[in-house]
Amino acid sequence: MSNPSAEDEVVQLCSDLIRIDTSNPGDHSGPGERVAAEYVAEKLAEVGLDPKIYESHAKRSSVVVRIEGTDPQRDALLIHGHLDVVPARKEDWTRDPFGGEVADGCVWGRGAVDMKDMDAMVLAVIRDRLRQGRRPERDVVLAFLADEEAGGKWGAHWLVDNHPELFEGCTEAIGEVGGFSLTLPNDERLYLIEAAEKGLAWMRLIAEGTAGHGSMVHPDNAVTALAAAVARLGAHEFPVRLTKTVNAFLEEVCDATGIEFDPDDIEKTVRDLGPLSRMIGATLRNTLNPTVLDAGYKTNVIPQGATAHVDGRFLPGHEEEFFATVDELLGEHVRREFVHHDIAVETEFDGPLVAAMAAALKAHDPQARPVPYCLSGGTDAKSFATLGIQCFGFAPLKLPKDMDFSGMFHGIDERVPVDGLRFGVRVLDHFLDHA
Ligand SMILES: [Zn+2]
Repeated sequence: MSNPSAEDEVVQLCSDLIRIDTSNPGDHSGPGERVAAEYVAEKLAEVGLDPKIYESHAKRSSVVVRIEGTDPQRDALLIHGHLDVVPARKEDWTRDPFGGEVADGCVWGRGAVDMKDMDAMVLAVIRDRLRQGRRPERDVVLAFLADEEAGGKWGAHWLVDNHPELFEGCTEAIGEVGGFSLTLPNDERLYLIEAAEKGLAWMRLIAEGTAGHGSMVHPDNAVTALAAAVARLGAHEFPVRLTKTVNAFLEEVCDATGIEFDPDDIEKTVRDLGPLSRMIGATLRNTLNPTVLDAGYKTNVIPQGATAHVDGRFLPGHEEEFFATVDELLGEHVRREFVHHDIAVETEFDGPLVAAMAAALKAHDPQARPVPYCLSGGTDAKSFATLGIQCFGFAPLKLPKDMDFSGMFHGIDERVPVDGLRFGVRVLDHFLDHA
């Protein structure tokens, strides 16, 4: 029997990975990534590679392997994907979130777009190439990681801190949340390549006061102090700060749509983009969103403390401004500590790797218009950027015009078009020939 091609295999690989539940609730209470890591390692070993599983904690597993390139003079390329997914509640879904069913032209399930699709595409392409003896020119390091959905502490961060040697010689990387198509109302097809991402500051706010009886005069009330600070933070609107990536994105989109780019009224320009505005709006400024409140246990008891959680996101180059504003808004009775804190990243959108991504997209979709963009969320790119690696989001997918792709991330009925996966495989293969 002849070997299956990458396009034949990718759907099965994606379904198989979805069927392995790797829900990550944010602590170690989930199933972990061990079973998925073993699956991936086996698929890589089948084509002659020698992958290793690294465990940061019991069942919190990542897989790393280096494929030797034909030209040892060249720097290495890192391709990374995460194996964990956010949890899903079966009763909310049309189909089993861990069923990996193929129906209506899509593979369904948790992780279908975030990001077992890319894991499967990378596996399919690498397996196909190695079966045909088509080694890439440069070393390629593949990393399938644990814990991205909780900030990567037990995955990418842990590997970078404990096994930096695995990434030696890597100068560039591709990973998630980029390379997907977005069709504009005038049928222009953009492919958004991630070149920047906001930093994150998940903070716990703590107010301390004096406990007492709810019937008495009581000026030192922790709940009052906390509530006032939370309200100030939640209501604050940061000024628009146009980063070079968002600027480049807006110029491209305006050019594609004929909308006038008005540097003096960026918000209007973004509003005119229609459905795109929700995604791009968050990359115009720092943001603060209160998410959790916790205080007290009885109506007539004033508690001595109160806490809240706030999800803060800051733009590349604007972290200092962000924290100065937060501290001013907090006032003197409320302090903050980090639940999680990670950097913003931004890279130049030019050079040979960008050219290789663009050429691969155009080769398989002549209408493709690759554009850089800034992600409002975060990925494992943050960890790898600390090693000096230039990181891009490039997990190519050609999507139907009417698909709400950004709504699929962590959404109900997450699914990925089979045609999109096959397209992605062709693009990645082409990319590896020229990367
Ligand atoms: Zn993801």
